[in-house]
Amino acid sequence: MIFQGSKAGSKREPGAALDLPELYRCVHCGLCLNQCPTYQIFRLEPESPRGRIHLVRALTEGRLEPNERFGEHLNLCLMCRACESACPSGVQYGHIAEAARELLGPSGSPLVRSLSKFAFKHLLPYPHRLRFVARLLRLYQRSGLQGAARRLLPRRLREVEAFMPPVPDQFFTPKEGILPAFGECRARIGMLSGCVMSLFFGAINEATVRVLRHNGCAVVTPKTQRCCGALNIHNGETVMAKIMARVNIDAFLAAGVDAVIVNAAGCGAAMKEYGHLLRGDPIYAERASRFSRMVKDATEFLAGLGLVGDLGRIEKVVTYQDPCHLAHGQKIRLQPRALLMSVPGIKFVEMKASDRCCGSAGIYNLTHPEVSQELLKEKMKAIAETAAEAVVAPNPGCMLQLCYGARRYGPSVTVLHLMDLLDRAYSAGGRAQYQ
Ligand code: SF4
Ligand code: SF4
Repeated sequence: MIFQGSKAGSKREPGAALDLPELYRCVHCGLCLNQCPTYQIFRLEPESPRGRIHLVRALTEGRLEPNERFGEHLNLCLMCRACESACPSGVQYGHIAEAARELLGPSGSPLVRSLSKFAFKHLLPYPHRLRFVARLLRLYQRSGLQGAARRLLPRRLREVEAFMPPVPDQFFTPKEGILPAFGECRARIGMLSGCVMSLFFGAINEATVRVLRHNGCAVVTPKTQRCCGALNIHNGETVMAKIMARVNIDAFLAAGVDAVIVNAAGCGAAMKEYGHLLRGDPIYAERASRFSRMVKDATEFLAGLGLVGDLGRIEKVVTYQDPCHLAHGQKIRLQPRALLMSVPGIKFVEMKASDRCCGSAGIYNLTHPEVSQELLKEKMKAIAETAAEAVVAPNPGCMLQLCYGARRYGPSVTVLHLMDLLDRAYSAGGRAQYQ
């Protein structure tokens, strides 16, 4: 058994998934409609937050069956939570949608559904299996097979394949023991390695560790930690998500850290909601709430702590894409901008509708490619209008989507994570104290 300490079995857990007070908090004012990307595209009530809330309420009251049409309306939602930012009644739409998806299961074509189910249950919870798959992918990319496949694959699969980023030589692996702070210790923190971040953006994880240590943090990366479970939760798979949450809670609470730092917006938003996810768990409910209060996005934490040390100049025109799960999910907008603007030489230009979803939305770009591409095209147009050389987006899904957008639609901007940019600035500032 891989998940030591886990109290859950492998069967679906019983419980009233849709017993949510949120459903009755909506006053039908419609203020969320024009903030909703799917409503903006389709102009249809069932593709709006208010319409979806109506549908889920009808389902819970027995006025509607969870049929295919119902599933289509729910699954067309990006889970971007822009409606939550707009809602004056404080409706947490994300909780409603996640509970409804728990009843529906994954979306997309039969092939995408089968692959998603397999990944949620048999890959994401197991870091060694993920590393094995990533090694196979690397072999595929470097052996010449990729070139051949691109010529032979049907169009739809070619498009899916085009999203795959190059697998780097090295993965990020949790370190043994504690990495001490450079200089005076200001906090002892735990850091989430993440699944996508570890495999495809290991260098950004290393940069995050360096930036944190440079700012007086002793860093622990517990070896027993797992994927945060965000993709599972958003796609209605909560059995494994709860198991992963319990393992992470045990791993980080045992490490005795002051805060749990996350450099991926989607993961941070999910971990801040472990308290909600495990609210009915007699053993973990209290621990989960305590843990969730410790979770901080890296930008939120560093802006609160205050940057120390010499940041060197980086002469660049930069714009910023608000990841949905940072801006809407965690209400973090000012902190990343403040950190960006603290780097000497950076000329910051806001893009239009920076908090509108780029169309990545977990695996939405695979399950709903047409809507995703429409949103991406608009996003790339907004980036082009800023004439920025680089776009900063502190979330792996957004980074992959924007890299794809830059290749397919232009402009050919560099896509950066904020921790990467700060690390470069510290490097430019001369960090003899790092060695
Ligand atoms: S989460 Fe996003 S796509 Fe879904 S209803 Fe809310 S605003 Fe619309
Ligand atoms: S803004 Fe809030 S209260 Fe108004 S319709 Fe949308 S979800 Fe309901």
